Amino acid sequence: MTKRDDSPAARTATATLLQHHPYRPPAGFESAQLPSYRASTVLFENVAQMRARRWRDQSGYTYGLHGTPATFALERRLCDIEGARHAVLCPSGLSAIALVDMALLRSADEVLIPSNAYAPGREFAQHMLQAWGIVARIYDPLRPESVRALMGPRTRLMWLEAPGSVSMEMPDLRALVALAREHGVTTAIDNTWSAGLALKPFELGIDVSMQALTKYQSGGADVLMGAALTCDDALHDALLDAHMRLGLGVGGDDVSLMLRGLGSLPLRYAAHDAAARQIAAWLQRRPEVAQVLHPALPGSPGHEFWLRDFRGAAGLFSLRLHADFGPRRIDAFVDALRLFGIGYSWGGPMSLAVPYEMQAMHAAADGDAAPPSAANLVRLNIGLEHPQDLIDDLEQALRAARPG
Ligand SMILES: *Cc1c(COP(=O)(O)O)cnc(C)c1O
Repeated sequence: MTKRDDSPAARTATATLLQHHPYRPPAGFESAQLPSYRASTVLFENVAQMRARRWRDQSGYTYGLHGTPATFALERRLCDIEGARHAVLCPSGLSAIALVDMALLRSADEVLIPSNAYAPGREFAQHMLQAWGIVARIYDPLRPESVRALMGPRTRLMWLEAPGSVSMEMPDLRALVALAREHGVTTAIDNTWSAGLALKPFELGIDVSMQALTKYQSGGADVLMGAALTCDDALHDALLDAHMRLGLGVGGDDVSLMLRGLGSLPLRYAAHDAAARQIAAWLQRRPEVAQVLHPALPGSPGHEFWLRDFRGAAGLFSLRLHADFGPRRIDAFVDALRLFGIGYSWGGPMSLAVPYEMQAMHAAADGDAAPPSAANLVRLNIGLEHPQDLIDDLEQALRAARPG
């Protein structure tokens, strides 16, 4: 042992050393999954490399907001699911909707939104976009020909959603896309229900696909994230510019959770689908139930378009109870459920139930026409419990809430 210690540790204060302790991923070590990259700062080798920085095409790293190896990997995997060329990640599904709107619309432009669209996305258009001089027009998704009358020279963007949120009507996507194309209008679909598995929007000629990854891609009901995907380089550039200017970053640990969820996505989606169809078919035979709104069930609005365009269905559907179930009995039904949690969102492992009075919601919010199937609804998210246990639970809750 020498008397004088010349090691860096001896010459450098501990506080400094702790910031500059060398870390390199060890050679010869590779984990099966990507590590969690937590980064605001990204280090460059030297100033020349910093000056030559590139990030737009995922060929380099510049700053945490503009991508890490993990965000790029997640974007690539999402592209592979849907057959997209490009993707950008956002902190939530709703922020991905807002990103698409802000990237593609300018003052005096007009945007078309289906009446059964995810309500917070519609409200973003009706409140924020309208305040910026952008006009939001609400259309009936079950009457594509009626949309023609709403189109003008300033119509820039048509939102699609399949099926509609909560009321679950399946639109004729091909007819709506044809109409948009005829008028040179860009199309964007909220494709969350299909998780990108059951519907391939780019095969139908849709320009942008938006996903709330919060739902099935995560699968855990424990992380929020969204994405906007496209095959069009110019549209991706516009999305990327807006994404950069708005600073829509996602957390490194959230990206890890999302990558972890993706591995089991097809298996989970198939399980949710099978269980939901079994339960929906059982509900269809119940005397308390007026209508089951599940696109894969004959008799559900737009079922023929689901048959034509989809290769599967989500575990999310709604039922309409008979009129003698007023709002009070509907609440009693939901309260009586033991295995269904009462809560928003869906796609997670636990079943959930939410009562909706959509006519009232629409009238109070904006005086718009409500979606076609709006009254006395309960939306069910079918989780990963045993389907027979869920059926037994629904049966006892229907009994408990039944009038008379
Ligand atoms: C949940 C949801 C969103 C929004 O996703 P968040 O991550 O909760 O913001 C958008 N569209 C649909 C159809 C949804 O169900």
